[in-house]
Amino acid sequence: MGQSISDLMRKILTKSTVDRDSVEALVKGLQRILLQSDVDIKLVYNLSQNIRDRSLKEKVPEGVTLREHVTKVIYDEIVKLLGEKQETLVGKKRIMLVGLFGSGKTTTTAKLAKHLQKQGLKIGMIACDYHRPAALEQLKQLGDQLKIPVYYSDTKSPYEALNSGLAKFQKMDSIIIDTAGRNALDKELADELKKMYDLAKPDEVLLVIPADIGRIAGKQAQEFHRLVNITGVIITKTDGTAKGGGALSACSETMAKVKFIGTGEKLGDLEAYDPVRFVSRLLGMGDLEGLLEKVKEAEFNEEDAEKIMSGKFSLQDFYNQISGMEKMGPLDQVLDMIPGMKHLVPENLIEVQKGKMVKYKCIIDSMTKKERGGDEEIHSSRIKRIAKGSGTNESDVRELLKQYKQSKKMIKKLGGVKGMKRGNLAKMAKKFGLKI
Ligand code: GDP
Ligand code: MG
Repeated sequence: MGQSISDLMRKILTKSTVDRDSVEALVKGLQRILLQSDVDIKLVYNLSQNIRDRSLKEKVPEGVTLREHVTKVIYDEIVKLLGEKQETLVGKKRIMLVGLFGSGKTTTTAKLAKHLQKQGLKIGMIACDYHRPAALEQLKQLGDQLKIPVYYSDTKSPYEALNSGLAKFQKMDSIIIDTAGRNALDKELADELKKMYDLAKPDEVLLVIPADIGRIAGKQAQEFHRLVNITGVIITKTDGTAKGGGALSACSETMAKVKFIGTGEKLGDLEAYDPVRFVSRLLGMGDLEGLLEKVKEAEFNEEDAEKIMSGKFSLQDFYNQISGMEKMGPLDQVLDMIPGMKHLVPENLIEVQKGKMVKYKCIIDSMTKKERGGDEEIHSSRIKRIAKGSGTNESDVRELLKQYKQSKKMIKKLGGVKGMKRGNLAKMAKKFGLKI
């Protein structure tokens, strides 16, 4: 989509108030750009409908220009499809990759294995492509490079390879299954995939699609989704094309979100999907992060901040808090904002955040919505279930709950500190990553 969206906005949205004509002109231009970028027509229509409605209806926060507000609206609507946050595969035991011939499955299998290995996990890969003769050699070589075991079947049966491989790698943290592709999703491939899916019972099925796939992405994704339940999308070859509209269609058809993107042929060329980075690349906007930050700040609501600071603090808030700490810089700076704050912070909070973020996220992901709300006590049978579901130990779950309680107490005290300026309270809450 290149430079064009920024250009368009600059040309059209120079006024300070929303007016129907300028939004209409913007939507028209945006539609043209999206279509050029291979987004399918129905999706373009839906997207522009939402963008039009929200741009006209929503109040532009004080201190934010109309252009910034509309950019935020466009960003929101796009990440609603692609994914609003970064996802992790840690804790997923059986990961199956599917996609057509040449989409990048085998390469991505090895890239993912490397990515998880770097996080200290034990990985095994199973070669299940016996359709293309060279496929097995390719995965074996990649496995050798990474010193990650590859299981394959001498009988050249993908089902036999899968069954025995799963048994052999039972003790591994994750098993990544590379499947065969075809030029099209014909009956033969469909039958094979369905059978593989039933045998593997994967925790994660990733559809691998190249960025340059074009307008057929949606239809293809839908066909795969009907056979095997797609849980995530990996877009490969983003280094080769500026277009990326196919990803939007694939996500919209499967409701699955983008989890990783491939940026080159080497095994290190894999990035975890990052919404801001991805959308700014897609729309050709270099300053998107700063802009979103500015809009968020302007939307920041003092009363909500007070409510949260007075003790309403869920496990999800806790997660946001520890992830936010990574970005907030030296803790001392934050602590200096209020008197008496320093001794209220559990000493190890920052350290905890460093090593355990990923684990904590898996644990919180394995909780029910109610448990995440933090209002009810989580007893040992639930702890057992959560540990199992998240692939962690019970002691990890207990530790997380303890940290959460400490933080909750701290936030409560903080909210009760007298004499803090109103503005500071909101700033504090935000620094702690509380979602307001
Ligand atoms: P498969 O048939 O789906 O298993 O696809 P392969 O993994 O064999 O990949 C097909 C070709 O695409 C190979 O030449 C890969 O090196 C190349 N490839 C895969 N991912 C990327 C990527 O992100 N960027 C680039 N430039 N090439 C890629
Ligand atoms: Mg392959």
